[in-house]
Amino acid sequence: MTSGPSFNPVFAGLGTTIFSVMSALALEHQAINLGQGFPDEDGPHAIRAVAAQALRDGPNQYPPTRGVPALRAAIAAHARRFYGFSFDPETEVLVTSGATEALACCIYGLAGPGKEVVLIEPAYDSYRPIAQSAGAKVRSVILEPPDFRLTYDGLAAAVTEKTTAVLVNTPLNPLGRVFSRAELEILAEVVGRSNAAVVADEVYEHLTFDGRSHISPLAIAGLKDRVLRVGSAGKMFSLTGWKIGWVTGPAALVDIAAKAHQFLTFTTSPALQLGIAHGLERQIDFTLGLRDELEAKRDLLARELAALGFELLPCEGTYFLTASIRALTQESDRDFCLRLVREAKVALVPLSPFFEAGKPDHLVRFAFCKKADVLREAIVRLQNYLGKRKV
Ligand code: PMP
Ligand code: GLN
Repeated sequence: MTSGPSFNPVFAGLGTTIFSVMSALALEHQAINLGQGFPDEDGPHAIRAVAAQALRDGPNQYPPTRGVPALRAAIAAHARRFYGFSFDPETEVLVTSGATEALACCIYGLAGPGKEVVLIEPAYDSYRPIAQSAGAKVRSVILEPPDFRLTYDGLAAAVTEKTTAVLVNTPLNPLGRVFSRAELEILAEVVGRSNAAVVADEVYEHLTFDGRSHISPLAIAGLKDRVLRVGSAGKMFSLTGWKIGWVTGPAALVDIAAKAHQFLTFTTSPALQLGIAHGLERQIDFTLGLRDELEAKRDLLARELAALGFELLPCEGTYFLTASIRALTQESDRDFCLRLVREAKVALVPLSPFFEAGKPDHLVRFAFCKKADVLREAIVRLQNYLGKRKV
């Protein structure tokens, strides 16, 4: 008798992502989904029209593994326009199937057995299993309340001579923080003394509020040759299902990510790539307008949530507002979210899954990338539920 197939323990030990769990519960309970971060209005029709035409007329065969030339050129031009970076589309740009694959390519390219990957928690859920499945050890830097800032001591304690990658997500999902220049200088100082590269997850690069600028770690002195930047068209153009992402950076780093990419997906739908090339060239005003729209939605939601007793953390960017529930209840963030989706019919996401230790567990995340009417309806449901019940 055999004992049957055995599994990679990294994946065997995992549950379903909190985003899928909360979206499934939202459907089951006919709840408004302020959990998983996706917009409920699709991005520019012109982008979809370019992709649709390419689907009809071609090309429909494998595009080059690093991406269609038009999109690589558009990604390089976008980086030059907004940040003054100069990337060679031939050697310093890689198109991937979403930022998720881009992150996996960077981590697989850099990390392996005997190496260490540093995560800054709260951290996006895909980083850890990818690093672990590469055979690397993960070390965490925990951002601490009340201001969740990156400190020299915190980072320096996690980076060792074995560190090959430090993952930094700015603007930060789920906290909505935008790392300051001073924090990124701390990153440069610590990383500069190590052999590590920085993987900068910048998928929310354009979604910064109150006139705040996004600063890429690549713009910090000392990090120029060390940073792989990760971007996502899904976030820029409200087309999250398309899964078009990219990596930019120095040729040697992009090369190693491209080697991982050739065996993860090899390439990505040419029609969608052409649509996004059009978006970056001609539709970036949509993205800049989205930022203003989201800022207004953040304000609407924040005002009403504060009146209900949620204690809001500052939201400087992203799709997400985070709040403490301690003034409302002593239950865990997860229990509160489970109760809310069933009884108030509003789905949120608890923050504890973004921390390896599952703590803090008194914070919840609201996605405000939804139509204003949907947000208002969610507010009414929360008012009715929290207003009329003692929790
Ligand atoms: N990084 C962060 C911080 C995210 O929030 C997301 C989710 N959208 C991703 C990466 C993945 O992006 P994509 O959908 O392009 O794979
Ligand atoms: N990035 C999205 C979020 O944070 C979720 C994407 C996903 O479900 N994988 O909500």
